[in-house]
Parts: sequence; structure tokens; C-alpha cells
Amino acid sequence: EEREVLATWTGPAATADGTAVKLLANVADGESARSASESPVQGVGLFRTELCFLSSTDEPSVEEQADIYQQVLDAFGEDEYVVIRTLDAGSDKPIAFATLEGEENPALGVRGLRLSFDNPGLLERQLDGIALAASRSRTETWVMAPMVATVAEASDFAEKVRARGLKPGVMVEIPSAALLAHRMLEVVDFLSIGTNDLTQYAMAADRMATDLAHLTDPWQPAVLHLIAITAEAGRQAGKPVGVCGEAAADPLLATALIGMGITSLSMAAAAVRPVGAQLSRVTMETCREAAEAVLSAADPKAGREAVRALLDR
Ligand code: PEP
Ligand code: MG
Repeated sequence: EEREVLATWTGPAATADGTAVKLLANVADGESARSASESPVQGVGLFRTELCFLSSTDEPSVEEQADIYQQVLDAFGEDEYVVIRTLDAGSDKPIAFATLEGEENPALGVRGLRLSFDNPGLLERQLDGIALAASRSRTETWVMAPMVATVAEASDFAEKVRARGLKPGVMVEIPSAALLAHRMLEVVDFLSIGTNDLTQYAMAADRMATDLAHLTDPWQPAVLHLIAITAEAGRQAGKPVGVCGEAAADPLLATALIGMGITSLSMAAAAVRPVGAQLSRVTMETCREAAEAVLSAADPKAGREAVRALLDR
């Protein structure tokens, strides 16, 4: 039956009892956006802009940036939206014109939004490029910052984004942001949980360290509690809270995330059909039971087994 559902599922995504779920794509440039638009997604939940500049020695002009961003926007239509993430340079994604050299602990250093603190104009120019692209496209444009630690950072960012007529959000990748999600939502319009970094920082385990894979597992109950806190803040504020890290691409875990109140899942285009097919087979009530099960599980293995058992009933 599982195979049959996967073969026939074509979207749009919803649970078996008809609760709509937004499935979105993670993209890196115009080409990957055009190819992602062929799958049953309703837009882009994470456009990693830094990936466009991995080989740039100098900062591209506002005009050059706008041309690149517009290609991604134009891959989607009027009733779809694209979430553009501002530069997440530093740590595992060094960018020549934006990364500090010689940090002792790059993952805990000046990366993501923090680069804008002592790089006058870098963020503003990127936002100008995004606003220019948005003004030339019919696709709704949302903008979010990576590596946000404090409400003050979220508030400063939101002000700059709103000044350009765009919709601001922040990523929840640092436990401090998850714990204060309700305060973050007083100043931004949406949140997007980056489970790769949220797991790294919650578990104090380098996401690149293959021998720590048992810790860098989004099924870790501590990580899932941070996600649940964030989803609940979104539900209370009536604002969207998505997941855009690898966790969103796991069909089993996706059921628990939806049960927590997560409103969108953004993933590599290849994962969209398995996740959509899985969600189409479960009711919202089962999703809520899955959420409870993973939050009370002793460890990742027990959580996976509990969800499997619920889905096999
Ligand atoms: C994340 O941290 O989960 C995320 C989506 O961002 P990136 O993987 O680009 O750091
Ligand atoms: Mg991240």
C-alpha cells in the first residue's frame, strides 16, 4: 500500500483528514529552483543565497544580486512564495568577501546575521538586491535571517526588511531563539527552524563530525522539545512556523512535526513526494500522537519505533 500511495501521490499536501500542509523546496540558485518547481511544492522555504557566492572573490553589486534572486522568484508563480535567506556565510560555508579568517571556533563565531554587525552595508545591500528582484517579480517574497540569537537582532532585521516592503522572519537555529520564540514572533512575521544547526547547538555536537552522528540526530528528544516550544509559540501567535532543516525530509518525523503544529516543511526536492505521500496516509490525530510519542521517548531509537508503531496500526 505504501508503494502505491507514493506512486500515485501528486499533491497538494494534506493529511488523510484534509488538513493542508505546505511543502516547500530548499534551493541554491535559479536552476535548482526551476527544477524544484516541477515537484508538488508551493514555493521555496529556503533559498540559501550564500551558495550563489561560493566562488565570488568580491561582493556582487546590488544589480547583480537582484538578477540572481529574480531567477529563483521567477521559477514560481503568483500564488506561490519564496523565502530568501540572507547570507549565511562563515563556519561550514566560507565566502571570500564575508568570512572572518582565523577564528578559534567558527561555528560559534561570526557567521550568518552576525557578519552584518561589523560589515557596514553588507546586509543592507543584499536586502536592496532582494527588494529589487521582488519588485520585478509576481512571486511573493519573504526574507529571513540565519543564526539569530536575540530578540533585539530579530527586531533590527525585521525593521530593515519591512522598510523595503518585504515580509521578515528569522531562523530558529540557536536554542536561545527557540526558548524565546514567542518574543521573536512579536517582532517578525514567521519563523523557520533550521534543524541542522539547532541540533548542533542543542547537543553541542559538530554537524560535520561523522563520529557524533548519534548526537546530531534531530530525533533527539531535547531537540524535539525545542521544536515543540517554537511550534506552540507560532500557534499562539497565529503566525507560520516552518522547518527547513534535514528533519523536514524524513517522512516519519514529518508526521510528528505536523502534530506539533509546524505549518510548513521545506526540503530537497527529491524528498517532497515521500513526505507528501506519508502525510496523505495519516490523520491529524495520529500526527498529534506521534508528536507526544517522540517528545516523551527516551532516545531517538525509541522515538522512531513509537512513530512506526503508530503508523502501522
Ligand atoms: C539548518 O541549519 O538546519 C539550515 C536549514 O541551514 P543550513 O543547513 O544551511 O545551515
Ligand atoms: Mg543553518
